[in-house]
Formats: sequence, structure tokens, C-alpha cells
Amino acid sequence: MPPPSRGFPRACSSRRSTAPYPCTRSSVSMSLRLKLIMAFLLTSLITVAVMGGVAYERLERRFGEIVEAGSARNFRGDVAAYWLTYGSWEAGIKLEPFTQFVGRRRAFLAARGAETDTGDADQAQPLPPMRPGEFGSRPARPPYPIGTGSEGGNFRPLFRFTLYDPEGIVLNPRQLDEFGMRRQVTADERAQGVPIRVKGEIVAYALPQGTANYSTTDLAYLAAMQNALIWGSGAAALMAILLGLLAGRHVNRTLSPFTQAIAGMHGGVLRQQVPVRSRDEIGLLAEAFNRMSDELARSHEALRDKNREINAHAEKLYEVSIRDGLTGLFNRRHFDEIAAGLVRDAEARGAPLVLALADIDFFKRINDACSHATGDAVLRQIALLLTQTLRAGDTVGRYGGEEFVLALPNTDFDSAIILCEQVRQAVAAYPWAEIDPRLSVTLCVGIAAHAPGQTAEETLKAADRHLYRAKAEGRNRVCG
Ligand code: GH3
Ligand code: MG
Ligand code: MG
Repeated sequence: MPPPSRGFPRACSSRRSTAPYPCTRSSVSMSLRLKLIMAFLLTSLITVAVMGGVAYERLERRFGEIVEAGSARNFRGDVAAYWLTYGSWEAGIKLEPFTQFVGRRRAFLAARGAETDTGDADQAQPLPPMRPGEFGSRPARPPYPIGTGSEGGNFRPLFRFTLYDPEGIVLNPRQLDEFGMRRQVTADERAQGVPIRVKGEIVAYALPQGTANYSTTDLAYLAAMQNALIWGSGAAALMAILLGLLAGRHVNRTLSPFTQAIAGMHGGVLRQQVPVRSRDEIGLLAEAFNRMSDELARSHEALRDKNREINAHAEKLYEVSIRDGLTGLFNRRHFDEIAAGLVRDAEARGAPLVLALADIDFFKRINDACSHATGDAVLRQIALLLTQTLRAGDTVGRYGGEEFVLALPNTDFDSAIILCEQVRQAVAAYPWAEIDPRLSVTLCVGIAAHAPGQTAEETLKAADRHLYRAKAEGRNRVCG
């Protein structure tokens, strides 16, 4: 593990790409930033859409109400003036159609100044009546302010009104029933009618019909309102994107030390510290993260030390399990494992392999004549001589009490005889008297070359037969 670092790393480690979780700064922060922008955008767009929709609907409705009220006021004034001019509705329509009268009245009022047109039926003034024969002359083109009337040369009312007398008989000349008679208004219509008074007396009732028939000016006014709302909504959406970007950047700045620290931990540096910049939740989180990282690093270090200790113990145990305590050579069990491997290898490569057994001559006598401790010293010294005489690739083990076993890979039988002869001579020539003046040690070696298809055990049995022969032939010799 790399040495622990105090600060937080500048970038993710190179291992981050193989991480099972996303640790790259960009991927984490970008998605968060995007989410924030989307959240801001969505919230603001919904708000703006709802606000714009409601505002436009309210505006249009209010606009309609104002137009209707103005229209109704004008209509009542027009009817009252018509009445005053001609004495009655019936008298009026014989001399001048009502729509033409209205056009004429508009022009008349415009000429006197719009402020004089209060539209109040009570204050309506009569116009000079049309004389018979004058009917059909065009009135002057009047100016029509918003919500009050029509446009162009012909009068086009914003609202159509049904006019009926106090008995409920409709006065509009075109509103006839199926028999061509003036129709009677319904109870519903009657309930909604607004009275028109002339000199304090109700002469008729007016009832608006259908929806507003806006003038182009009104429509342009409404379109301007709609346009303003759309631009306002666009500006609000833009603001939302900007706010989202700013908020995303802020969140990114706040969180990037954490993502970097986590990437560093994943890269192997467990001790990470993020700066504590505030006392809010993020600050508390940073403190907790630093503490956690510290504890994690400490427990990881303790665990690593413990692991090393356990490994050392395991290694020692393994050594104990495979070696003989007195001589330090491989024990019989482990030698057998190695020999089996060597046999497999020799068979696979077709290489020669020789196994040999060495047995100390009259070892019991050494124990008896000198001491058991001297016997042990002899065993240790022979182990040493065997290791020194044999080559690097050879294996030697203690096979039993005073028996040793040798595995000589890549060695033909003749070379093995020479090598074992060297072993025998080394033992015989050793100055044993230095250990005990009465001491003289020799050994016998039985050699067997491994034959294809044989097990190590079978080869060793053959070697043991030759060892037995060496003993029988007088000891201190090599037989194969
Ligand atoms: P031979 O020449 O026929 O092999 O005779 P030998 O006396 O060597 O053979 P034998 O099997 O009669 O005696 C072996 C002796 O080795 C018996 C035992 O007490 C002794 N021995 C076995 N292990 C140890 C050991 O670890 N230390 C000592 N000091 N003696 C041991
Ligand atoms: Mg023996
Ligand atoms: Mg012996």
C-alpha cells in the first residue's frame, strides 16, 4: 500500500476506470448538475406555464367583462337616445334603422369630444331625427375607442343585445319566432335583462347575446398581452437555467472534495481529509468523513500488521510441518510429495531420475558406545555432509531414524553411482574423532534408477533392496 497522504488527492487514481461504482468527478457532478438544472427548469416552466395561463385567462375574462360592460352601457345610451329622438322604438325603426342611428350618434358624440359620451342612459340626449326620405344616407366615419363599438364605416357591435319591452316582447326586428311574429323572451332571459330608463321610466330591457366580437384593436391588444406573457415566460425559463447552472456549480464545488477523497480511497490511499469550510450539514459531513477516513486507515494499518504476523506464523508452521527437527532436512512426508512431483516431471520430459537410500552403519553401536547425544550430533553432521555434497537440484530428506533419502533428477544411473560414492567417501573421511575419539562413521547407499511407469515408492523399494545388499556385502559401500 502506498504511504498514507494527509491531503486529498488532486485526481482519481488510474484504477478508477475499473471501479465497481462511479468515482469520476465529472460523471458524478455532471449528472447532479444536470438534475438540478432540470429540476429548476421543470419547476419554473410549470410555474411560468400555470402563472401565464391563469394570468392570460383572467386577463381575457376581465377584458371581456370590461368590453361587455362598456358595450352594454353604450347600448343602453343608444337605445335611450333613439327613444328620445323618435318617441318610441316602433316610431324610430320606421324612420331610421337602429344600427344607422348608432353610427350617427357615435359620429355626433365624437365631434363633441368623447368625454361627453358618458354612455349613461339617463343622460342620453336625442339627435336631430331623420326625416322621411333621408333614410339610407351614410353617417360620417366615427372613431371607435377600445371596447365601445365598431370599426370601419359600418357599425359592428362588440356584443349583440336582445332588446325587449317591459312585457317581454323582443324589439329586435330580426328576432322573430317561427310564425314570423315577435317572440317572447324566456323567464331566464328576463331574469338577466338590464332595464333601460328614459326620463325615469323603464322603456325596455337589454340582454347581451353570445360572446364578444372584438375589434382588431382589441385583438391586437390581447395579442400584445399574450406576446408579453410568452416573453416573460421565456425570460423566466432562462433565469431558471442560469440559476440551475449556478446551483449546480455550487453543489459541484461543495461535493467535489468528497468525490475526490472517495476516488483516492478507492485508489488505495485510505487516509483522506476533506476541508471543513462551514458549520452546516456539509461541514458536519466533512468532519465525520475525516474521522471515518482516519479510523478506517488506522484499522487498516492494524489489520495489515496483524496479517503480516499471521503470515509469518503460517510460514513457520509450514516449515515445521515439512522439516525434521533434528537435522533440518525435509521429513519423509514432504520428501514423498516432492518425489511424486519429480517422478511426474521425469515421466513427462522423459528425463532420468535416480532415488537412493543411505543408512548409517552400526548406528545403534554409536548410541550405545558414546551417547544418544553423540548419535544426534552424528545425524546432524551427516545431514550437513549430504547437503554439501549433493547438487543444487537434488533433494535430500531424513527417511527414518538413521536413514536418509536422496532424489537426483536429470541424473543417469552411472552419474548417480559417482555422486553417492562421493557422499560415502565424504562421510567416511570426516574427522569424527573431533566429536568423540572413539567415533568412526560410515554409511551404505542403495541406488535405483526410476523406470517408466514406476511410482516413487516402487523405485525406493528397489533402492532399499540394494541398500540391504550393501549391508550384506560388508557395509560402507554403494550398491545399485
Ligand atoms: P545397520 O548397520 O544394520 O543399519 O545397524 P544399525 O545399528 O545402524 O541399525 P539398527 O536398526 O539396529 O539401529 C538403528 C538405531 O538408530 C536404533 C535407534 O536407537 C537409533 N536411532 C534412531 N533414531 C535416532 C535418533 O534420532 N537419535 C539417536 N541418537 N539415535 C537414533
Ligand atoms: Mg536403519
Ligand atoms: Mg543403520
